[in-house]
This record gives sequence, C-alpha cells and structure tokens, in this order.
Amino acid sequence: MAIDSIKSVAVLGAGTMGNGIAQVFARAGYQVILRDVEQRFLDRALETIAKNLDREIKKGKLPERDKGAVLKRLEPVTDMSAIAAADFIVEAVPEKIEIKRAVLGEADRLARPEVILASNTSSISMTTLAATTKRPDRFVGMHFMNPVPVMVLVEVIRALETSDVTFETTMKLAEKLGKNPVAVNDAPGFVSNRVLMPLINEAVYCVMEGVASVEAVDAVMKTGMNHPMGPLELADFIGLDVCMDILQVLQEGLGDPKYRACPLLKKYVAAGWLGRKSGRGFYKYS
Ligand code: NAD
Repeated sequence: MAIDSIKSVAVLGAGTMGNGIAQVFARAGYQVILRDVEQRFLDRALETIAKNLDREIKKGKLPERDKGAVLKRLEPVTDMSAIAAADFIVEAVPEKIEIKRAVLGEADRLARPEVILASNTSSISMTTLAATTKRPDRFVGMHFMNPVPVMVLVEVIRALETSDVTFETTMKLAEKLGKNPVAVNDAPGFVSNRVLMPLINEAVYCVMEGVASVEAVDAVMKTGMNHPMGPLELADFIGLDVCMDILQVLQEGLGDPKYRACPLLKKYVAAGWLGRKSGRGFYKYS
C-alpha cells in the first residue's frame, strides 16, 4: 500500500507498548483503531495517553488546543472486526507465540489484501510470524523502544519474504512518526537485544562474582561510557523476567552458550524480584 494512502492504523494490544504506539500515530495525524480484549485495558491506555499529552503540553511540545484533536483520532475497540477499516496494522499483544499466532491469523483474515501487517515483537522470529499469515510479503517487523513516545529508534525488520515495497513503506511510515527507522534483517534479538542483553548479563555476572556492587557497575557504565542508565538499572526497568526470556531466545536461536542467563538473574526471577514492576530487582522501589 502506498504511503500516502495510509490514513488509518490499527494497533492490536493497548498495553505498555500498544498505548505508546497508538499515541505516536495519533499525534502524527493518523486515525487509530486501538484494540484490546477488555474495555478496562482500553480505559487505562487512554488515561496513560492523556497524561503523556499533558506532559508534552507542559514541556511546550504540544499546543494545548491540539490535545482534544489527538484524543479524538483514537478509537478504542474490543470488537476485532473494527480493524477491517485500517490501512496499516501493528500488533503489540503479549510476547507469547500462541497469542500472536491467533491475533495475526484473525488480522490477516480481516484486513484488506493490500494492507501491511507489522509486529512489535522483541524476540520472536519475524519470519515465523510472517508464516502464520497468508501475506508473508506484506509482513514486517516494527520494533519500537519503550517508552515509545520518547525513544526515537524503530528497528524495521525484514522477514525472509518481506517485499521491498512493504519494507520501504514501513521505513517511511516510521519517519512520518518522527522516529529514526533503522533497517535490520531478521535474526534472534535483532540488533537491539542482541547487543543489549549480553551487556546486561555480563553486568549481572560482575555482581554475582563480587567484581563490584550493583551501584558500582552502574556507575562505571554511566560515568565512564556515558550510558544514560546503568545496565542493572535498565534491567530493572525492562523486567528481569523479560531479560531472562530474551537471553533464552538468543541462546536457542543462535545455539551459542555464551548467551545463557547468569544464575543470579535466574535466582532473582525465581524469587519474584522482577525489577521495577514488582518493587524489587537489583534495586528496591517503593
Ligand atoms: P503488555 O502486556 O503491557 O500489553 C499487551 C496487551 O495486549 C495487554 O493490554 C493485553 O490485554 C492485550 N491483548 C492480549 N491479547 C490480545 C488480543 N487478542 N488482541 C488485542 N490485545 C490483546 O505487553 P507490552 O510490554 O506492551 O508488549 C507487547 C509487545 O511489544 C510484545 O511483543 C513485546 O515483546 C514487545 N515489546 C515490548 C517492549 C517493552 O519494553 N515492554 C519493548 C519492545 C517490544
């Protein structure tokens, strides 16, 4: 589908990533059909978006009079059939292959033939997901970073059969959102997690082996390498369970034991220390 014909976008899943993706599309002038399984998830997403827009207004990035128009472009739905009207579809449902397969299969049946289906998965093979649809040439990865309204990177991931038109349209679409799209081929962890997760894992090994304290490891990376967050602070932000799952994907997908999760990371996850979301990870949160 030509980039200029894309006027309305369906976002499947209104969680952490879905509400951010919906926000940036609505902010860029697109009509957004935001779909989740229950109304309460949609209500929570719209609340989050309204709060984010207020923050932008305070910072002078969004004129106050535009807030209403942005919110008006969002159409929250629980009825999946509403997505048939979309010109482009992005899925951001939970990172479980069975859920993705069901959602993508339904989206594939409902969407017009020319519509591109994109996935925001952070670790599942794009080629595997593309193969769950009847349009593998119109399937692409659109990997946004968290928090979506703030982070400018989008990894645009080419699955085995992604066509050039699909790929280029998606790159241009990401630019229209004010993002920096980077072209990546489908491989476990893409580039972002392939590089980031071993860094985090190595930081955890440093703590486990007593090389340095949590604070010291983070301080080295922040003040020595100019990272805005230390790797352990970042791991807490991402979720230690999520980090462990992605390491497993890297280890299985690349067949190299160097990606195995550090035993200390596994122990924290087993204890329910999942980072910020559980109140405790490498740091304590009140
Ligand atoms: P989340 O759990 O916050 O949100 C998922 C949402 O999908 C929930 O609101 C859930 O109710 C909804 N959902 C479940 N089944 C659905 C269905 N059939 N149709 C529509 N909605 C459905 O998850 P998230 O963190 O937003 O992650 C979503 C995707 O984004 C995953 O693939 C994840 O790997 C990827 N991702 C996450 C991050 C991150 O930092 N959280 C970063 C990049 C990519």
